[in-house]
Amino acid sequence: MARFTFRGGIHPYEGKELSKDKPIRPYEEPKGDLVYPLSQHIGAPASPVVEKGDHVLIGQKIAEAGGFVSSPIYATVSGTVKAIEPRRVITGDNVMSIVIENDKEYESVEFSQPKAVEVLLKEEIINLIKEGGVVGMGGAGFPTHVKLSPKEPDKIDYVIANCSECEPYLTSDYRKMIEEPEKLVEGLSIILRLFDNARGILAVEDNKPDCVQILKKLTKDMERISVVALKTKYPQGAERQLIYATTGRAINSSMLPADAGCVVNNVDTIISIYNAVKLGRPLMHRIVTVTGDCIKDPVNFCVRIGTNYAELIEEAGGFVKEPEKIVSGGPMMGFAIFDTNVPCTKTSSALLCLSHDEVSHANETACINCGRCVEVCPGRVVPSRLADYAQNKNREAFEANNGMECCECGCCSYICPAKRQLTQSIKSMRRMILADRKKK
Ligand code: SF4
Ligand code: SF4
Repeated sequence: MARFTFRGGIHPYEGKELSKDKPIRPYEEPKGDLVYPLSQHIGAPASPVVEKGDHVLIGQKIAEAGGFVSSPIYATVSGTVKAIEPRRVITGDNVMSIVIENDKEYESVEFSQPKAVEVLLKEEIINLIKEGGVVGMGGAGFPTHVKLSPKEPDKIDYVIANCSECEPYLTSDYRKMIEEPEKLVEGLSIILRLFDNARGILAVEDNKPDCVQILKKLTKDMERISVVALKTKYPQGAERQLIYATTGRAINSSMLPADAGCVVNNVDTIISIYNAVKLGRPLMHRIVTVTGDCIKDPVNFCVRIGTNYAELIEEAGGFVKEPEKIVSGGPMMGFAIFDTNVPCTKTSSALLCLSHDEVSHANETACINCGRCVEVCPGRVVPSRLADYAQNKNREAFEANNGMECCECGCCSYICPAKRQLTQSIKSMRRMILADRKKK
């Protein structure tokens, strides 16, 4: 049963007014080289199928999946493979990448039109999604064909379209819902073909009443799809919170959504499924919101994957003031970046340029035991205590007190009057434990 919300959460400044009314603007002619990191998804890196000096066309596969949990990569311009070498990505790491020199001809392969969706077998649908290089575009980058292949597909009751876009400043999903709602609904219908017993839910936060209205109108005669308006609250789009708000089912960190009979995909991912299955087009573009008070003309760009971030800043009019902080993604869960000379990947949702970096100016003081971090924590843990355990490297106590249930949403750090960097400490401990578990 839908609850329409979840326990905890916060209401940060939304910042969406800067770009929400800006229609998607294609940025079709990148000036510099296009860079394609081979790891832009969770799982094994893709393996190059081109060599230095090769000439490639738009839509040509340049790297194939390196395993089942992996994803192929396609050229988004025509040109010459200039190098296959490590290049810096948003995390600051150097990742093996294919670099293509754009010949500015924009020549494309001929895409073959798949069979009509109605006659496609389930395996064929999954294969088109896999071959289309579709991954979770909300940030995680988990290969979508894996997500859509649970052990017991008959036990999936709900396919949830995550239309909440709860992170402040981000407006790419909002614009997609306004401009391409048919593709979203049709993409969801395609996923439903894989799960005979499931219902589709378009889960939208109630701060987007226009989207709720458009989607309700489009689905009014669709028996298997409904639109749910959720209470606006961060982190409504986090998988566990979304599942609870829409179905009343709870999952913990050791469960997958499929264990609760759910499959969750975000807006851009579902539209990419539509493009791959209906049109036979691999994932080559994505919407990137370039925004923040330092940007002259905040905008939602449709970019070719591989485009350099710095070009997008220039195209958005450049800086009107010096940014203290630049974030790839939203302010709550994104990555702070120190170099904008990095490529947009399948998971790049936004570039946020802010003149004030609250975190670096905050003076951390002692905990005053106010309990606010506990009140806002959607993971139902005690952040103040977990941060202490993390700082003291007390792994046993951290795990015993359910530290792994933290979803790294940042609500505790946001609310803490003592400005303690709670999330950062908890996150480091979680990462260490996860890496350890993976090794074992
Ligand atoms: S402990 Fe984790 S889940 Fe809880 S508020 Fe902090 S970051 Fe969010
Ligand atoms: S919000 Fe900050 S000050 Fe209040 S209990 Fe939590 S850690 Fe302590």
